[in-house]
Amino acid sequence: MSTRIAFIGLGHMGGPMAANLVKAGHTVSGFDLVPAALNEARANGITVAESAAAAVADADVIITMLPSGRHVLGAYQGDEATPGLIASAAPNTLFLECSTIDVEDARAARDLLVAAGHRGLDAPVSGGVGGATAGTLTFMVGAEIEDFEAAKPVLEVMGGKIVHCGGSGGGQAAKVCNNMILGISMIAVSEAFVLGEKLGLTNQALFDVASTASGQCWALTTNCPVPGPVPTSPANRDYQPGFAGALMAKDLGLAVNALESTGVNAELGTLAAAIYRRFADEEGGAGQDFSGIINTIRARSAS
Ligand code: NAD
Repeated sequence: MSTRIAFIGLGHMGGPMAANLVKAGHTVSGFDLVPAALNEARANGITVAESAAAAVADADVIITMLPSGRHVLGAYQGDEATPGLIASAAPNTLFLECSTIDVEDARAARDLLVAAGHRGLDAPVSGGVGGATAGTLTFMVGAEIEDFEAAKPVLEVMGGKIVHCGGSGGGQAAKVCNNMILGISMIAVSEAFVLGEKLGLTNQALFDVASTASGQCWALTTNCPVPGPVPTSPANRDYQPGFAGALMAKDLGLAVNALESTGVNAELGTLAAAIYRRFADEEGGAGQDFSGIINTIRARSAS
């Protein structure tokens, strides 16, 4: 069945996600602040609107794919000059918030929707630009079950795996916890490789042992931070992302916000956030794959 979908935020992720909805036969109107994103969207069959309000006016479903919670809440509410999505949408519209944002912002966004007579859920993704283009993203969804069921056919066009993670904010909670594991484990794997090098181990020997022993993890076996053992890992292409250091720093910042709001004492998560913030802001890592963190560990180690 063809659904009228409005897509707000047609960047690296939103652009290909919206294009897949068009390919599946849906009618998609879109808006972004950047003209280049609009031109690409137009070429992919999206009807480009003059404003976010105009894009959502006739929509059954509204998807947002924006940089941060501030952008999402701003777009939802609008300001004196710009009408917000909430006021511009038809009553009882289903909002799918797919950006990666704070758990608390996700819950606040849904509360605003419900107060205005709409339905909404948080559905952040993993899988990166490659997954967005291939339509194989994993969606982590925080929703009432009936909203989850209503959203599923649309999410299935853009994703290969759709996981219901509980009520409002559950999707963002799953995303932040997963990426905290990933950030910590990449640092752990990188430290082990640098230690192995200093102890005279070849990277291949350490990989052959750890990848089939208790050190096994995705950071080692898929995104291996040294060139050689996993030919497809970003280390083999001079750390071109992949998953950029800036995004890992952002996601670990969200993890720290969640740690603070819940009072959880996660020493490694907090330290990993600081290490990736420094990598992104001071060590040229913002545009590199996050596995480039290994080079900063090597640089700090005695020669
Ligand atoms: P991006 O910066 O490429 O795209 C965001 C787009 O939003 C931009 O084109 C920007 O112009 C637009 N925008 C900002 N404010 C707007 C507004 N008020 N109205 C309309 N458009 C507006 O970022 P991205 O890489 O596409 O990431 C989007 C979200 O997905 C982020 O929350 C990110 O953390 C998350 N994410 C990204 C990746 C990835 O690999 N890039 C992976 C998983 C999740």
